Formats: sequence, C-alpha cells, structure tokens
Amino acid sequence: MSGLETAVAACGICPHDCKLGPGQIGRCKARGWLNGRVEALSYGRITSMAIDPVEKKPLARWMPGRMLLSVGSYGCNLRCPFCQNYGISQVGEGDVPWREVSARDLVELTIESRERDPRVVGIAHTYNEPLIAWEYVRDVGLLAHGAGLANVLVSNGCVQSWVVDEIAPVVDAANIDLKGFTEDYYRWCGGELSAVKGCIERLAAEDACHLEVTCLVVPGKNDSAAEMRKLAEWLATVDPGITLHVTRYFPRWKMSAGATPVSVVHNLADVAREVLPNVVVGNVPRR
Ligand code: SF4
Repeated sequence: MSGLETAVAACGICPHDCKLGPGQIGRCKARGWLNGRVEALSYGRITSMAIDPVEKKPLARWMPGRMLLSVGSYGCNLRCPFCQNYGISQVGEGDVPWREVSARDLVELTIESRERDPRVVGIAHTYNEPLIAWEYVRDVGLLAHGAGLANVLVSNGCVQSWVVDEIAPVVDAANIDLKGFTEDYYRWCGGELSAVKGCIERLAAEDACHLEVTCLVVPGKNDSAAEMRKLAEWLATVDPGITLHVTRYFPRWKMSAGATPVSVVHNLADVAREVLPNVVVGNVPRR
C-alpha cells in the first residue's frame, strides 16, 4: 500500500461517505482531513447567532412563547437548489466570516441571555446543517443540560444512524426536514430519503426528545397529493401524534420558479390531515 493510500481517511457521517486525503475538504465544506482522520473543521465556528422564538424553528407544540439562542456555522451535505440560507450553507471557511465560540462559551452566553430575558430556555443548532459538526451539538447539549438549558436541533436528518444515536440523548426537541417522499426528489437535493427516514424513526423513539417534521412544498417538484399522502401515511406509522409542518417555498438561490400558491399549501395540508391530526401550515396565512 502506498503512503498516499494510507493517508486517505473515510468520514462516515452521511451517505456521501467522502474519502479524503491530506488537505482535502468534504462535499459539505465543513469536515476535512486532519492528522489522518476526517474532523469537523467547522466545530464551534459560528457564522450566525440570534435569539429566535421557538415557533420560528419551527416548533408548534414545544414550549410555546419561549426563546432560543440560535446558532449556525457554515456548510451543508445537501445541495437543495432552493436553499434559503445558501450564503452560509453552501460555502466553506474562507467564504464567510465566522468566530470561534466554544461549547462552554455558548452555554455561558445563553445563561446571560436567560438572565436578561427569562423566556430564553436554551440553544438551537440551525441555519446551516448542524449534524455535519455533530460533535458540537453533543458537547453543547451536555453542558446545556448541566445548566438547566434545552438543546434543540433543526436538521435535514441526512446522516448515518450512528450519528443520530450519538446526539439523540442530548436533544430535547428537533425539527427534521422531510423534503419529499421519493428518492428521485432527494437525489435532486443531493441527499438520500432512506437516511432521513432513519433519523426521524430514531428521534421519534427517544422519549425525551420532542420531534416535529417539516415538508417544504416546491411547485412542480414535490407538490402532488399522492406524494403528500404517502409521506403522511408513513409518518403516522412512526408516530400518529407527530406534528407536520407543510410549508410554502419562495424562490431562492438557483430556483426562479414562483412561490408555491397558497391554495396548494392548504390543499396539501388537508391531504396530510386525512391521516395526521397535527398538521400546520408555514409561510402562509392560516385559514
Ligand atoms: S459529512 Fe461532509 S465530509 Fe462527511 S461524508 Fe458527509 S459530505 Fe462528506
């Protein structure tokens, strides 16, 4: 075996299974080769920080009226052409300003926020894909729990099952995207449906984790009643009480198609309600 071959390391976090050599960065632009291993180079590198309402994550049935110190880094393992946060999700470390915030410092900042505003109940990992640096989600979660704070995950869920096993015990609430219900649609987004389904099943089985799911409806791509029915029927087998957010798309990044008609979002939500009692619409006025 040559020296070059022995230097190559496998990541194993998500279905892309990048094999990286010295100096190489993974498809997500967040993990890279370091000392013979693939490490989360984006660990603790924060590009965005804001105090958001729980409802904005979105979480409809968990601690209503409370706030979360929400943080994001850079990079993503998916390439959804409609990405709303492409300015941080589709770039690497040299393309966007970031600052180092250790897990301990983030928890300290959240405690200070809670002292100023008692509605602050924890931290949300969001904006870009948090699980490509799952070690930060774990480390923050452990310290947050020690300080009486919640640890919330907003993720595409497209990771291997062992990653979900690692973070599930330290996540109090999660919203996982279920972008569509065909492998074709997930290929278009650069992901894998089966991995996302596995993530949803695993988190739903974690008693201490409140789980909600979001489906963004993109016109002409995943907006058929038949696909929504299948998606809802499958979710009902996982947890009949689960909350599904059916959400309106707006043109962004590579997509110029017009926004999803409001009536389509409501109609698809009605389809989902035929099998799930807890369906809410997003980005549209309630009827
Ligand atoms: S997490 Fe990143 S480096 Fe690892 S397999 Fe996925 S895309 Fe590749």
